Amino acid sequence: MFNNLSDKLDKALHVLKGHGSITEVNVAETLKEVRRALLDADVNFKIAKQFTTTVKEKALGQNVLTTLQPGQLMVKIVKDELTQLMGGDAEGINLSGTPTVILMSGLQGSGKTTFSGKLANYLKTKKTKKPLLVACDIYRPAAINQLHVVGEQIGVEVYSEEGNQDPVAISQNAIKHAKSNGHNIVIVDTAGRLAVDEEMMNEISNIHKAIQPQETLFVVDSMTGQDAVNTAKTFNDILNFDGVVLTKLDGDTRGGAALSIKSVVNKPIKFIGTGEKMEAIDVFYPDRMADRILG
Ligand code: GDP
Repeated sequence: MFNNLSDKLDKALHVLKGHGSITEVNVAETLKEVRRALLDADVNFKIAKQFTTTVKEKALGQNVLTTLQPGQLMVKIVKDELTQLMGGDAEGINLSGTPTVILMSGLQGSGKTTFSGKLANYLKTKKTKKPLLVACDIYRPAAINQLHVVGEQIGVEVYSEEGNQDPVAISQNAIKHAKSNGHNIVIVDTAGRLAVDEEMMNEISNIHKAIQPQETLFVVDSMTGQDAVNTAKTFNDILNFDGVVLTKLDGDTRGGAALSIKSVVNKPIKFIGTGEKMEAIDVFYPDRMADRILG
């Protein structure tokens, strides 16, 4: 995960990490390299610039040049700032409500259906909940089948209505079904398109208004870099979602999405997907991710 970024940051901080003398010049050089590493990782220009400015101010504020271990202090400042950039503290999901309704949003292929299954499995095993998965993609029968396959695999019931072309009604009926069958979690998987379009936005917005979920999650493929951030912005403008799920972090992702999304939409990354299997889900901890990035 983020191997390239880790290497580059490691190289940038290398001079300062040693115990040798450190000067204002090599701090400046280092920060230039840090900025380049962030840009190469697909972090938005403004965010990368702000990041290095903040690190510089903190370094000067803490008299980094005159401390005993200036290199270590610099690494710590960079690590703390990376943590802040990705959201500070980990944020859980809101499990209030009977049932708790969780709405999944995002583009087709982002990993919504897979993540819906992973989340149901996670809540079932870790939080002893009884989830219901809801298939609301009326355009692609294959997507409904896919959710049924996932449900079978993890032993979670899947609600779908063959022939019903109204996703709002399906989601409302699913909640009724959940109430009368003792499900305390309802995870609604919605249709996605390959690109943002008005029809899809209206549809998800109507579902959102009708079912008033406790938690609306935006699922995004981390491999899509700056596009991920732009899509997040569009979905957030419409849905004011509660959190982000970054999928495919097991792939060769450059890390830009993980580093930029929080600053752009001001919503926390709550979960990450790290593989195709149902167990490949992790709660997102910004400090652990910063540790991983800096090695
Ligand atoms: P949806 O169209 O948003 O519902 O996306 P899917 O759940 O169908 O996922 C699209 C593809 O990405 C599938 O082949 C999934 O197996 C794959 N996928 C989903 N999440 C992950 C992940 O975290 N890691 C990897 N490597 N593949 C994933």
